Amino acid sequence: MGAPGSGKGTQAGAISQKLGIAHIATGDLFREAVRRGDELGQKAKSYMDRGLLVPDEITISMLLERIAQADCRNGYILDGFPRTLEQARALDRALEEKGQAVDVVLYFKVSTEELVKRLSGRLICRDCQAPYHPIASPPRVAGRCDQCGGELYQRADDSPDTVRKRIEVYFAETASLIDYYREAGKLTEVDGTKGIEQVGEEALAALSNE
Ligand code: AMP
Repeated sequence: MGAPGSGKGTQAGAISQKLGIAHIATGDLFREAVRRGDELGQKAKSYMDRGLLVPDEITISMLLERIAQADCRNGYILDGFPRTLEQARALDRALEEKGQAVDVVLYFKVSTEELVKRLSGRLICRDCQAPYHPIASPPRVAGRCDQCGGELYQRADDSPDTVRKRIEVYFAETASLIDYYREAGKLTEVDGTKGIEQVGEEALAALSNE
């Protein structure tokens, strides 16, 4: 878990590679469905376009189907799920039926000021969506994506005022989830303000303690 700009996607990708487990990002699953244009995609799109959460019923069934696939047999890391208490409870119930449970919840903590700084400077590739930052991770050629040469642009919702709003919404929505996992003794807080490598080491250390 972590606010937009906390680096949780980057860290989830690195952890999935290091541990050889699946990386499941519900935002990516929804974006794929929208690209395919199927029923799930059509339903999800109207919510995503407005920056709203897709209803729990749709999100939970998509996620439970995904974690039932063969590549999840040895474990997986969830990124962007759960985002509501109902999702967290549904996940716990489904895992319990299989005699499983969530091992650990990593919470990447970054101050609002730092999040605003990171997101409002963020540049995204128009073609492959790779993220860059003028100071933290600049592209090799200004304005061009290192990976595909695509044009870099700033997302409309990455302006400082909108970023502040998105962060507010995130904290309002997920505060109860943080408490839920803290009370269950599963929450590990990671200082997300350090460099990518150091944060990664802290996250892996928290996982190996389990
Ligand atoms: P993300 O890439 O995680 O920022 O997600 C992009 C969009 O997908 C969000 O703004 C939501 O509309 C939707 N989404 C992703 N994960 C969830 C979730 N767990 N619950 C509800 N909606 C979600």
